[in-house]
Amino acid sequence: MPGTDARPAASHLIFTEDHEALRWSIRAFVDREVAPHAAEWERTTFPDSIVRRMGELGFLGLSVPEQYGGQGGDYFANLVLAEEIARGGSGGFLMGLSVHTDMVIPPILQFGTEEQKQRWVRPGVAGEMVFSLGITEPDAGSDVAGISTRAVRDGDGWRINGAKTYITNGCRNAMILLVTKTDPAAGHKGFTLFLVPMDTPGVARESKLAKLGMHASDTALLSFTDVWVPDDAVLGEVGSGFAQIMWELQAERLIGAAGCLGYAQYAFDETIRYARDRTTFGRALGTHQAIRHKIADMATRLEAARALIYTTARRYAAGEYPVREISMCKLLTTQTAWDVVDTCVQIHGGAGYMDEFPVSRVFRDIRLYRIGAGADEIMLDVIGKSYGF
Ligand SMILES: Cc1cc2nc3c(=O)[nH]c(=O)nc-3n(C[C@H](O)[C@H](O)[C@H](O)COP(=O)(O)OP(=O)(O)OC[C@H]3O[C@@H](n4cnc5c(N)ncnc54)[C@H](O)[C@@H]3O)c2cc1C
Repeated sequence: MPGTDARPAASHLIFTEDHEALRWSIRAFVDREVAPHAAEWERTTFPDSIVRRMGELGFLGLSVPEQYGGQGGDYFANLVLAEEIARGGSGGFLMGLSVHTDMVIPPILQFGTEEQKQRWVRPGVAGEMVFSLGITEPDAGSDVAGISTRAVRDGDGWRINGAKTYITNGCRNAMILLVTKTDPAAGHKGFTLFLVPMDTPGVARESKLAKLGMHASDTALLSFTDVWVPDDAVLGEVGSGFAQIMWELQAERLIGAAGCLGYAQYAFDETIRYARDRTTFGRALGTHQAIRHKIADMATRLEAARALIYTTARRYAAGEYPVREISMCKLLTTQTAWDVVDTCVQIHGGAGYMDEFPVSRVFRDIRLYRIGAGADEIMLDVIGKSYGF
């Protein structure tokens, strides 16, 4: 029957046969080793063993050069990974994994020394360690320039004090990519990034934070009290941290959009199934015009968002820095996904409110995407400013 899976196998011209082969091998892994555990991980969070397993399978470094243990692929391989992991139905796992593969490893590759790449990227790609990204603080989120974590020169290194909150993987990470201020008087030139091992004296996991959704992921409040790190913990240039983290945020938003859309697509696919199986008033639910039109509307909006993501990803992979379009991707996708998943719950009726049906999990998870990594309002501002206002 046409439309069983809303996506054709070769989904878009950006993907080659190699990408499609990769897609099917990740899909087989997800069907076997992720999807069956998605409900359980809501209670336990995803285990470290699944990250190690992905390391063994080579899925953690798809676009990482081979000399650091990766597969040497292109950026589109990361898109395939995000889309297929989303099909596993665990938003928390998808998010924890993306932080590791797409938010921490790329800046180390981009700005790190050879020694840092060997020290962190290799074990990260092998799945022996999980990483976190520390931007947000109790008093500063959207306003990254307003952070107050300080790093002060001390002997041959730096002394760090501050706190980071809402940190994904913060209960299990071996290292955090930390955004600090090294010269508060220097404005945007006063920021520096550090790679801080979590076993450094003075680093504390203050608490595991309870949250609305993304239950398969651990989220922590971390504190840094007189944490001393040597010079080789600096990632990139002292004073260039703001520009570096803005560079990181572009990839974070793009992969976040791809994962978010994949997760909404998963809810849509579940809803198609439900609309076929469920009978109301003597007919399959989906055959009522009001429901059929909702399905058509959702499918159209998902395709439109996907087209924008793929077009933007193509530019990004070609070495462009399309901040405006990446912001548009994040804004459009996360709002579309939110609307789509709300409709998916509606089509499920009471079942959509039950834990037993995956759409309820997607509903609580997907709300985050309109807040994290630059909320809607911030994306609107970036886009508006790009027109000179
Ligand atoms: C589950 C979860 C996981 C996360 N993981 C991480 C992580 O791993 N690492 C990390 O560093 N951070 C992480 N975050 C933090 C996330 O990126 C921030 O929550 C987000 O950037 C928003 O910052 P804030 O919460 O401080 O909101 P605020 O900055 O306080 O903003 C509150 C609201 O006001 C709006 N707003 C703010 N300023 C303006 C303005 N000038 N004009 C109009 N509207 C405005 C915002 O858009 C938002 O809607 C995570 C958050 C959550 C919830």
